Amino acid sequence: MTRKCNFCGSTEYEQRKTEYLYSYKGNYLLVPNTPVEVCAGCGMVYYDAGVLKEIERRFFAIQKKEEKPDSYVELPRAAYGG
Ligand SMILES: [Zn+2]
Repeated sequence: MTRKCNFCGSTEYEQRKTEYLYSYKGNYLLVPNTPVEVCAGCGMVYYDAGVLKEIERRFFAIQKKEEKPDSYVELPRAAYGG
């Protein structure tokens, strides 16, 4: 899949893993090893829509106690000043 960077127009991307912090109404979920694409031209980070959807699904499943966080880390809201 080829696409242009919104900022510099580059079509070169580098696959990387990063930590993604999902937040919703004062609750946080830190997801390590989230696959991202980084623009080789300007360094802008792009997240895959499917990856974000999965993180969101996990977040609500954990909130409803349907799933355990396992490798996912739930953060106390105090750490971010509420
Ligand atoms: Zn770029």
